[in-house]
Amino acid sequence: MPNVKEIIDILENPKKEDIELITRAFEFAKEAHDGQKRFSGEDYITHPFETAKTLAHLNLGAKTIAGGLLHDVCEDNENISIKKIKKEFGEEIAFLVSGVTKLGELKYRGVEREVENLRKMFLAMAKDIRVILIKLADRLHNMKTLEYIPKEKQKRISLETLEIYAPLANRLGIGKLKGQLEDLAFIYIHPEGHEKIIKIIKGKYEEKEKYLEKVKQELGEELKRNGLENFKIDSRIKHIYSLFKKLKRPDVDMNINKVYDLIALRIVVETIEECYKILGIIHKMWRPLPSKIKDYIAVPKPNGYQSLHTTVFAADGEITEIQIRTKKMHEEAEHGIAAHWAYAESGKPKEGGKINPGIAWVNQLVDWQKEFSENKKETLKTKDFLETLRIDFFKDRVFCFTPKGDVIDLPEGATVIDFAYAVHSEIGNSSTGAMVNGKFVSVGTILNNGDIVQIQTQKNKKPSTEWLKHAKTSLARKQIKTSAKKSGFLKNLNLKRKISH
Ligand code: MN
Repeated sequence: MPNVKEIIDILENPKKEDIELITRAFEFAKEAHDGQKRFSGEDYITHPFETAKTLAHLNLGAKTIAGGLLHDVCEDNENISIKKIKKEFGEEIAFLVSGVTKLGELKYRGVEREVENLRKMFLAMAKDIRVILIKLADRLHNMKTLEYIPKEKQKRISLETLEIYAPLANRLGIGKLKGQLEDLAFIYIHPEGHEKIIKIIKGKYEEKEKYLEKVKQELGEELKRNGLENFKIDSRIKHIYSLFKKLKRPDVDMNINKVYDLIALRIVVETIEECYKILGIIHKMWRPLPSKIKDYIAVPKPNGYQSLHTTVFAADGEITEIQIRTKKMHEEAEHGIAAHWAYAESGKPKEGGKINPGIAWVNQLVDWQKEFSENKKETLKTKDFLETLRIDFFKDRVFCFTPKGDVIDLPEGATVIDFAYAVHSEIGNSSTGAMVNGKFVSVGTILNNGDIVQIQTQKNKKPSTEWLKHAKTSLARKQIKTSAKKSGFLKNLNLKRKISH
């Protein structure tokens, strides 16, 4: 049986009220899910519990963790409404829970070209980065238990994970989640490829384990001799999905011996000076491959990643990759945006936790924001944006699908007629109504996020000025007026002809 203490133990110096909130949310969720089972046969509470644990490991605040514990209660227990959550836990947590519930309704339907739009749509609907983080943690546990889900669902869920969730985790800089999500999805998407890779690395890893121990020891001693004390050396295996992608590259050609970074050593230290000092020590010990020395501290990768990399002929001349970085860089690389969330939740910066506006996920969010605020007068300033980490630049927008899966972005309150003109002026002009989520509705019907809209048209149909009552977008209004003028002009012309004959 899950014990809430396990979550609390993950937190660094939790406040009394944080412990109280998390415990209360846990008890509430346990009660709400009482008697419910997962496909695995386990009690349902294991799922929100594991979700919350992931959030705690990401160092997120108590409210986000409580949101994780409560994320499925409304969906799975009809006696519990968002209103009730609001009463029990306050507006903010209720908002997180309803955000996660809404996102759950969105499904990736396997249309390649909609993927980028769907990612944006996820962000738009989430309205708050924490909703995305809870959803990612939720998805991680669902992927971990995917083997118990009916077969026909496994592939769809894995594809969605690979196309939507992992890239979002990546853009938000959460390398840890991205790697795990990809590796889990890989099992179901390329079962043969997966098996092959597992076989290759298993043999390789066992072969290398002893060797790595030896290198770690030699290296540790040498660093101490040079007066370094506060360092940690770890060895890590590359994520299998990224390895699979690498092995498929023509220059690598499924030859594992060409992949030098299958297993890398990672040294984590306190300061940047120590990083460079260690790099020098290593190069004195072992000869480096010149083309493999990378200074991602001075020149970070586009996704914000910082580290020094070098590949050396280490003990017995074996080629070995070594990464050197500070604790802060390590935290950034693993947790990305989550590393900064405590800042926003407590209203005070984390110790030494100033947000660097140069890092990639920040830029990505600012880009998204720009893209969506073209028509708006106020553009959120980068600074304000960083202070709140709210994605409210998408507020007032509604995202709907065409039957082919294209996403149409509309202002809140937009109707079927706005959608029709957004697709094409001819479709707008000749529309008679629409099928929305399989139900026939009139042109004036207001659309909601995630609606699938199929416009019904009729040949020679003319726009009606009545439509102006329903048209919210300037595009639709303009087209309706233009069309009305044209047909009005024709009517007058006909009239004149009649008179003159
Ligand atoms: Mn869930």
